Amino acid sequence: MLTHTTLVLGLLATPVPVDPIPVENVLTHLRAFQATADTHGGSRVAGRPGHDASARYVAARLREAGYTVELQPFTFDFYREVAPAALSGRHRFRGVSTMHFSGSGDVTGRPRRAGLGCAEQDYRRFVRGRIAVVRRGSCSFEVKAQQAVKAGATALIVVDQKGPFKGNANRPQPIPVLAVGKEVGARVAGLRRVRVVTRTESETRRTYNVIAQTPGARPDGKVVMVGAHLDSRFEGPGINDNGTGAAAILELALRMAGARPATAVRFAWWSAEEEGLYGSKHYVAKLTPQERQSIEVYLNVDMIGSRNHTYGVYKGASERFFARYFSRLHLPYHTADLNGASDYAPFSDADVQVGGLFTGGKEAKTKAEAILYGGTAGKPKDPCYHKACDTMANVDHEVLAVSTGAIAEVVARYVSCAPCRVN
Ligand SMILES: [Zn+2]
Repeated sequence: MLTHTTLVLGLLATPVPVDPIPVENVLTHLRAFQATADTHGGSRVAGRPGHDASARYVAARLREAGYTVELQPFTFDFYREVAPAALSGRHRFRGVSTMHFSGSGDVTGRPRRAGLGCAEQDYRRFVRGRIAVVRRGSCSFEVKAQQAVKAGATALIVVDQKGPFKGNANRPQPIPVLAVGKEVGARVAGLRRVRVVTRTESETRRTYNVIAQTPGARPDGKVVMVGAHLDSRFEGPGINDNGTGAAAILELALRMAGARPATAVRFAWWSAEEEGLYGSKHYVAKLTPQERQSIEVYLNVDMIGSRNHTYGVYKGASERFFARYFSRLHLPYHTADLNGASDYAPFSDADVQVGGLFTGGKEAKTKAEAILYGGTAGKPKDPCYHKACDTMANVDHEVLAVSTGAIAEVVARYVSCAPCRVN
């Protein structure tokens, strides 16, 4: 099924070894990612040992193949609510929510109003060790939290005059921060003692991108970039999302290690994609304008072994290369809209051409797609998206094989034409 790539080889001044990539090699990397999750608390979440171990695995394979590997460190703010907030006086109040980036804690104390809580003045008569109760408005929740901490509050309750709400304190806070409606706010302020319990993980974490580049220098200095995020959600090992993409581009990099393509190929394994594309954003932000312009195209590979798959090709410059590949294999594909949900977004925001492949996430397969691709209409394309069951069993080997071949061929086409004319 994947013997197509011989067609490409003839076009290359220096052959790039993109003859069929055995899916077994890709699966070997995937099993390594599964093992790192299994031995590190069940996930490969950024800033935690499961991701670090995955990154060490990728870097070690690359180094063995002769690459110089760059580890690009950065920090990002991690937040998750481990359990719902509890606010109680004589009994527990309803309509209480933990503010995003609230600290974790279990504190009991006397509530004390502090106006809007935006300025030091609001805390003039505040007694350290009490629980601050402030009104929503006038300044950000982050400023309110900062002022409360400065005044020595052990927790902060923000009251909206309308009703219960959700808020975001913007960065990790050292104390519990709750959001409540008017009714709860009024009752709490009248009590002598309340107890606030939040259970969160809210902290700045450190992680890194893994980057490696083939030799090859084009007179115009352009490179082709291929990237995949290596981190998973905290809920699971992230084998389809995105062990598949990370493993496929690792195997491609290993096979290109001996090659001297006319155009250099730069591979990137991003971290903290799941928390908000932090790794790719950091990378793009660090580029000089000249470095940015030197990227001919950025190809993103995120989820390429979905069990109830479709072949979604990102709109843009690389579309026609993917189209040729799928057409030749008599396989259906469709154009996928760029919705900003993966690591191509910082590149396209910086005016770099982007492309890539995606075989489907939590969205349900339509009837029309089921007719075209097979599979089950009305069911998610990846039934284990962001779940603990995103394991080795959550990967369709044939879809992974076809997708890996697609990426390999598109990269080969890019490096064989210098400069590439698109459309
Ligand atoms: Zn992903």
